[in-house]
Amino acid sequence: MIKKIEHIGIAVKNINQSNQLFKKLFGKEHYKIENVESEGVSTSFFMLGETKIELLEATTENSAIAKFIDKKGEGIHHIAYEVDNLDAEITRLKTEGFVMINSDPKNGADNKRICFLHPKSTNGVLVELCEEVKN
Ligand code: ZN
Repeated sequence: MIKKIEHIGIAVKNINQSNQLFKKLFGKEHYKIENVESEGVSTSFFMLGETKIELLEATTENSAIAKFIDKKGEGIHHIAYEVDNLDAEITRLKTEGFVMINSDPKNGADNKRICFLHPKSTNGVLVELCEEVKN
C-alpha cells in the first residue's frame, strides 16, 4: 500500500549552493548529506513535517541527474512514495500495467530500499517507491 509522500527529489547543479538557498527558504538546515555511489549522486535532505525534500547533484557525467539537468535544467526530478511492502507493491503495480525502471529494489539514500516507475506510464512523473530498511 502506498502510504504517503516520503520525499520530493529536486535536481540541482550545486548542492552546497542549493543547501544555502533551501536553508533560507525553509528557515532550517538540511539534516544529512549522503553520497549514493551506485547512482552517481550526492544528496541532501531537509525535513518538513512528515515529508522530506531531497536535493540531488550529479557526481558523474553518466548519472541520471546529469542527463536530466542537461535535458530539462534544474527542477523537480521525482516524487517518492512510502510503501509498507515494496516487493508486494512492485508485483501489484506490474499487474496493473505500470512499467518499472528497475524491478529489483536497490539501496537508496536515507536507509531505504527503492525502485522507480517509468514516467511514460505515470503521466510524465518519475515515481520512486521506497520502503524503510528495518535494522
Ligand atoms: Zn528520492
